[in-house]
Order: sequence, then C-alpha cells, then structure tokens
Amino acid sequence: MKRNGLGVSAGIGIGTTLVIEEIVFDVSKKAVDEESLADEVNRLHTSIDGLKAYLEKKVAKLGHEQGEILQSHLDLLADPALVPEIEKIITQEKTVSEYAVHQVFEQFIQLFLMSGDELLELRATDLKDLRQNLLRVLGGKELIDVSDAKPGTVLVAQELSTSVAASINPESVVGIVTNVGGKTAHMAIIARSLALPAVVNVGVQDITDGMAVILDGTTGEVLFSPSEEECAEFTKRQRDFQDELKRLEVYRGQASVTKDGKEVELLANIGLELDIGPALAADGEGVGLFRTEFLYMDRSSAPSEDEQFALYQKAAQAFAPGPVIIRTLDVGGDKEIAYLGIGKEENPFLGYRAIRYCLEHQELFKIQLRGILRASAYGKVKIMLPMITTVAEFKEGLALVSEAKAELKEQDIPFDEQIEVGMMIETPAAAMMADVFAKYADFFSIGTNDLTQYTLSVDRGNEKVAGLYSTYDPAVLRMIHRVGEAAAGAGIMWGVCGEAAADPLLTKFFIACGVNELSMAGSSILRIRQQVLETNQFTCAERLAKELKLLETCAEAKTFLESL
Ligand code: PEP
Ligand code: MG
Repeated sequence: MKRNGLGVSAGIGIGTTLVIEEIVFDVSKKAVDEESLADEVNRLHTSIDGLKAYLEKKVAKLGHEQGEILQSHLDLLADPALVPEIEKIITQEKTVSEYAVHQVFEQFIQLFLMSGDELLELRATDLKDLRQNLLRVLGGKELIDVSDAKPGTVLVAQELSTSVAASINPESVVGIVTNVGGKTAHMAIIARSLALPAVVNVGVQDITDGMAVILDGTTGEVLFSPSEEECAEFTKRQRDFQDELKRLEVYRGQASVTKDGKEVELLANIGLELDIGPALAADGEGVGLFRTEFLYMDRSSAPSEDEQFALYQKAAQAFAPGPVIIRTLDVGGDKEIAYLGIGKEENPFLGYRAIRYCLEHQELFKIQLRGILRASAYGKVKIMLPMITTVAEFKEGLALVSEAKAELKEQDIPFDEQIEVGMMIETPAAAMMADVFAKYADFFSIGTNDLTQYTLSVDRGNEKVAGLYSTYDPAVLRMIHRVGEAAAGAGIMWGVCGEAAADPLLTKFFIACGVNELSMAGSSILRIRQQVLETNQFTCAERLAKELKLLETCAEAKTFLESL
C-alpha cells in the first residue's frame, strides 16, 4: 500500500506503526450547582497542578530543543490572563471546567490565528496542544507519552501535537507519518533536529497499530504493509543513505578549495527562520539565497519592516562573518500570495513577477529594503534582486535601495553603507547583457531553475515538456559560461543558487567557468565540497575552452560533464 506525501525530514525509516489517536472531549456547557462551584474550581486547579508537575518532569529530562517547547507550555500555564479567566467563567457562568477551558483557550487561539504573524500562529498550535492535555487530565485520561515506545516505532497520527513530538525518544522512534503538517510545523522542526525521517500529507485514517511501514523522508514515499521486495529495496536505500552520510563527514569543517587552490564558497539556501539551524549544522559557510517570499506566504497581509528586520538580523548574526544574501520578494510565477493582488495570468512565468511587481509597489518594496539594510549592521548582508531582464530595471532597483538608505540615515538608524547589491541572472536577456550589468551589479547569482526554463522555453512545472528541461543543455551551459566571462571581465564575484548548484555532475563545469560561490540545500554541501576538493580548475577550464563550442546535444554535454 504505497502513498506519496511531502518529505519534511530526510532519511529512511523502517518499523511498525503506533497510531496516536486524538480523543474528542465533551466540552458542552453543563450546569454546576452553587454549592459545588468551589469543588469545580478545585478540580481545575488540581488538574493544572498535575499537568505542571508532569511538564516540569519532562523538561528536566529532555534535551535543550525538545525541553524548550514544553517549557513554553509551562509559561503559557503561568500566563496571568489564562487560568484566572477560566476560573471566572466557571464561577460566573456556573459551569464545568471542560467548557471554561475550551472557551478561554479558543479565544486566544482565534486571536493568534488571525494575527497574521507566523510566530503567533505557531503559538496557537501550542495552545491547542496544551488544551488537549489539560482536557485529558481533567477527564482522568493518561497523557500521551511516546518516550516509552518500543524500538522500531513509526508514529502515525492525523496531526502530531508538539508535546507528543517533544517526548519522542529517538532511540526507539524511527519515523513519523502524519496527515496534517508542513515544513514549518513544530513537529517537522523536532523531526529534523532529531534526524528522524518524517513525511506529512499522507492519508492515515485506515492505518492501525502494529502494521509494518517504510517511509522515505526525502522522496515522501510511505509504504504500509510493504512486500518483501519493497523491504529489500528500502533496506538497501537506508544503508546507502547512512553510508553516504558517514562517508561525507570527513569533509565537515574542511576548506572548500580545489586541488590547484581555487576557493569556492559553499553556501546554503534558506527560506525560513527554521532553516537557519539546519543550514549551520550542514556546515553552510553562509547563505547564498534567502528566499524571502516564504515570509509573505500563509498570512493575510505583508510582514512589517520590524518583523523582517528581526528575521534578517537573526540570519546575519547566525552566519557572521559568513555572507547572507537576501533576495527581495520573488512573487508571481508559481508563487501565489493572494493579498498582493496579482490575479490569474495566461502565462504567469512570463508575467507580473518579482522585480516587475516590486518596482510598481515601491512602498512595499522599500519596507523590505529597509528591513534588510537594518540587518546589515549585524553581519555580512547582501541584497539580491530577482528576475532582472533589463538594465533599466536594475538601475531603478538600485535607486530605490539608495532611497531606503537615505530614509534610514535621516532617522539615524545604522546599516552597512557599503552593502553589496547584486542580481540574479535568471533570464536569457540578463545573461546576454551580463557584461553591461556587471558595470552596475556588485555580484551575480545564476538562478539555473529559471534560466533553464527561459532559455529552453520549457515551463519548469509542466510534466508534458519535462523531457526538454535540462541544465545540461549546451544552450544553458553556454549562457552560464558567458556570465562567468562577463563577471571575470568586470572583476565581480558570481555564484549559482538554483538546484544545479547541488548537482555534483555540474560542479567541475561551474569551477571551470570560474564560479566563486555555490548555494544549495544544506544537505548537499558536504557532497559538493568533496567534488570541489577533487577538481583541478586549470585542466577543467582548458578542456571547457576547447570543447564547449563543439557540444551539440544534451546527451553529448552530459558525456562531456561526466568526463571532466
Ligand atoms: C532559480 O530560478 O534558480 C532560483 C534560485 O529561484 P527560484 O527557484 O526561487 O525561482
Ligand atoms: Mg528563480
């Protein structure tokens, strides 16, 4: 029984299901006699004390990251607005604790959910979780504790609450499969911090305890009651995955330098605050692409300057003295953000996207620029403009950066006056004009995902033409080579931040073109460092100079890349 979900934590888990069911409690408004009200309030306090004692014991036992989440539940219980409010409802409305608890928590949950603030939305999840636990204690039910799960357990749930996730013992739990969740859910953070494979968006209604199960947190595949062949296949995948991780560990902490001394910075792509820790743990030397559009998603209005500053500052400080290249809002194409009002378009990838939108919404754009500039006082922050097609666009972007700088200066707010402003090379127009752009840009970063789609006129998300989409195509390789030459001619740094940066088959080619920096998902960094260390730039560049012009087909190009 194979199901495909979304992998949120890499690795392969093989084990037996333990289904965690959520109990639906009766929270209806039941009357309590005047003379029993004191007992009812007592029942509430006894339950809260019991829950507190349980949480305190767990916090003391768990490690830092897991313990911190449960500590936040204790902090919520200590909030002066919470318990007295529940007590007030019990006594004023002469009703039971369950009803009062449900009502008061619900008010806060709704408030947090409507705040449009990602952090407060996460707090709403904590509140739901805490409410469920308090209702359990009130109802005399045991609190779910998976810390004693049998070795080889795969937790299966509709939605895994934070407190359950936080009590996982990674010695016994080997994977997590849920229906609800996402990359940013606390459960996913915990899974990643424990290096536990996890897959979300998987239907689990029909799954029962004790079933054999396999999950692949990279591909998102989940197999319930797998066949013998499937078991053998995934056992091999698991062994390969672990062997590979172990093997690559020797590259941790090493300098990323070719055999003949060319340095290549290996940076991480991030999109959320939650990605900072894993990117550091993956040995990222900095951030080569901070996809800020994630900050604008799943909410009802744009993030404020202060909110953006706080996030960018965290990243700047975390990676200092390494660089953090913050890409300005790249909306449109396949990234929809309803409240920005872009609407449906015939050809969204050729439409109102990224810098095109921002230049027409200058106030929104400058809020972001000021947020980034303010963070530049705390580390090596750079600004990167996406989807540039014309020189005029880039110049207009630069003018807005100057305006944002002047505004901050007027307010005496510190920022890095020398901040570098670069651009993504994602369109054939930008690649063809790279020598001109190099006069104005402090650096280039090639977005190979888009550059491939635009060069070959292949929608990167359209399966019917996926066979034509390849960064190995000689036309794309020539574009990249040309950008490298233009950057070298002007003496500016350039890098690659599309998925191709993580493809070991392309590393030698990029180095031959003179690349200074490659930015990728953290999990690929050690593998690419190995490639860098095995490369001789001089010999690869010599071959490229002779052979690039001879390549006619994608297949020929692939053979050439393999031979480098
Ligand atoms: C790219 O186009 O290669 C890129 C890095 O940007 P995104 O994938 O976010 O469009
Ligand atoms: Mg792009």
